Amino acid sequence: MHPRETVDRALRLSALGLVDREVAQLCGVSLGAVQKWRTRTRRTSENEDIRRHRSCPRCHNRALDLEAYAYLLGLYLGDGHILLCKKDVYQLSLACCNTWPGLLEAAAETMAVVMPTSSVSRRRFSGCTEVKSYSKHWACLFPQHGPGRKHEREITLEQWQREIIEEHPGRFARGLIHSDGYRGTNRVRRHSNGSNRWYEYPRYLFANESRDILRLCGETLDLLGVAWRHSKPNTISVAKREAVERLDMFVGPKY
Ligand SMILES: [Zn+2]
Repeated sequence: MHPRETVDRALRLSALGLVDREVAQLCGVSLGAVQKWRTRTRRTSENEDIRRHRSCPRCHNRALDLEAYAYLLGLYLGDGHILLCKKDVYQLSLACCNTWPGLLEAAAETMAVVMPTSSVSRRRFSGCTEVKSYSKHWACLFPQHGPGRKHEREITLEQWQREIIEEHPGRFARGLIHSDGYRGTNRVRRHSNGSNRWYEYPRYLFANESRDILRLCGETLDLLGVAWRHSKPNTISVAKREAVERLDMFVGPKY
């Protein structure tokens, strides 16, 4: 066994164009070792090429991390976009608020887990960071993409997506609320015994302009056994103490 540094040095020298014999001499190893390292590396990069062309869970049956997908679907429906940028390459982009660096990291990590063959990049603006990834197959994973804004078109999930959400409703709710929702403190004034008293309690809000997405959020909360109501036509509120406690098991405050 040779140390990793020796192997790396030999590969660097080979990449510079030195012949195996020279590399072996410089690194003080046998000619056979250099040949083995060089061909093994080439074979791995060939595998990598094959992998890149068979990267889609829908088109090529690649294994999909279902929990990560359920979370990413929530993030996408809440506040994500898919653009066709060139020929057949799609860009998935999520706008993440700089106030919540933990969520920004989670979004980037989840994108990488769902599409491991694509790299994830970030572009920082004032107030928010765009987290994005390019793949020919983002549209296969999110067939809800389309022209215009999400609330101006119908959003229906496919059967396979429904099955994933039913299996991981907590992850999906977490994605929705982490993108378009909020866990905060509500203050209410109550009149009792002749005086006004203020009460504070935590509650969740999820606001979205798409009726379809609101309905999906409501159905998912039902699956989780979390009581909710519409506090406004475009907003779902979870305010009962037991319901907030239950949702805390799956979502929790932004971070
Ligand atoms: Zn595909």
